[in-house]
Amino acid sequence: MTEKTTQRIAIIGGGIGGLTLALALRARGLNAQVYEQATQLSEIGAAVALSANATRELARLGLLDQLWLVSTEPSELIYRNWRTGDRVVSHNVHHDSAYQQRFGAPYFGVHRGDLQRILGAALAGEGLHLGHRLIDIADRNGTMALTFANGAEVEADLVVGADGVRSVVRRFVTEQPGGATYSGTSAFRGIVPTRHLPTLPDPQAIQFWMGPNAHLLHYAIGASGQDINYFAVVEGPEQWPNSGSTCEITPAEALAAFAGWHPAVTEMIAATEHRLRWGLFVAPYLLKWHRNGAVLLGDSAHAMLPHHGQGANTTIEDAIVLAELLAAPSDAGLEALLQRYQELRRARTRKIQSSAWRTNALLHLDDDDPTLAARDLRLAAFPERFGWIHDFDAVRSVNGPSG
Ligand code: FAD
Repeated sequence: MTEKTTQRIAIIGGGIGGLTLALALRARGLNAQVYEQATQLSEIGAAVALSANATRELARLGLLDQLWLVSTEPSELIYRNWRTGDRVVSHNVHHDSAYQQRFGAPYFGVHRGDLQRILGAALAGEGLHLGHRLIDIADRNGTMALTFANGAEVEADLVVGADGVRSVVRRFVTEQPGGATYSGTSAFRGIVPTRHLPTLPDPQAIQFWMGPNAHLLHYAIGASGQDINYFAVVEGPEQWPNSGSTCEITPAEALAAFAGWHPAVTEMIAATEHRLRWGLFVAPYLLKWHRNGAVLLGDSAHAMLPHHGQGANTTIEDAIVLAELLAAPSDAGLEALLQRYQELRRARTRKIQSSAWRTNALLHLDDDDPTLAARDLRLAAFPERFGWIHDFDAVRSVNGPSG
């Protein structure tokens, strides 16, 4: 990379992407400053499922042992019928070490707070600026000028927008005011102690309960799988009622949306006092991920529906690829480097984004839907059909098989 860009790298956002990028850069001898709007690092949402494409990178950063201590590897991946609870399809994950043997790294259910704490502790506050909300970016003769809501002004040679689905940096890159796109689907979420779910079969598995116009996904988290994180997705509302990601509901609304479902599902939903409904938003498809000295990473570039559980995982991939490119000796210049990053990342993440859209419909079929049998065949072939997502090695994607 050019000498100029090594001087000042500003990362906007201290979420999973921003922190991973800062750690990956530091591991390669580069320093970055991270600007996070929150006044302390805290988890966004409840839990996250980390697949091999991310855990192999967290292992390279020396964080795997710490993650093992606070994570659960699901016993199996199981798809069930919404009403009867019958297994439609299942695949071993931890059983027989099937997942690790196939993909070379573990699959973890982890509390977001734990992941954020491990990433934050590894960074040890180095270059982390909390309470800094970016409000403006300008290019002043090749120098990126950043203005924060607290009055701070910073200059950088490269600005990385790891500022999530409602990214300010994306507005600079695309020169469009456009924000996040509402998917027309929403979710209720919660974490319940496993011991409070007596009717739940296979509580240590990651399971999809699939039914008409809705599905519920859950997996165990914590050192001994002591909690179940769940995410119950429904179609609608047609219009999202406000400019944020959540809207207030009465607890009865969540339960009503799953009336008639298997007792394990209703028991799980009833165990949480739902006051919020989460709108599922995605980033618009972008043609360009960079402009001048600004580039996008993670949800700002490709926020996707969570049905492949890949938003955080692909964000970690982005961070590794960008760090690898920035650290490699090259005279090609910043523009060429960012273009290469876009080429390496855009097609893959778009493919997963599109697949997640299609998966939503597949998870929401009625029992008499004529495409049900074909859907089940697709789910049975999950390892073959979707192995490419989990097989991915971000370092090798930059450097080739020897990398
Ligand atoms: P974020 O995690 O959103 O972080 C952005 C950071 O930028 C935040 O800390 C924010 O405070 C900060 N910020 C924003 N604006 C500014 C500003 N102007 N100035 C300074 N700082 C700013 N992914 C998976 O891989 N597996 C899963 O199981 C999974 N489950 C999910 C469940 C739900 C309900 C949702 C909504 C998402 C899920 N995802 C999952 C997706 C995953 O959470 C995101 O893809 C991931 O967090 C993206 O990381 P990020 O760093 O790009 O953005």
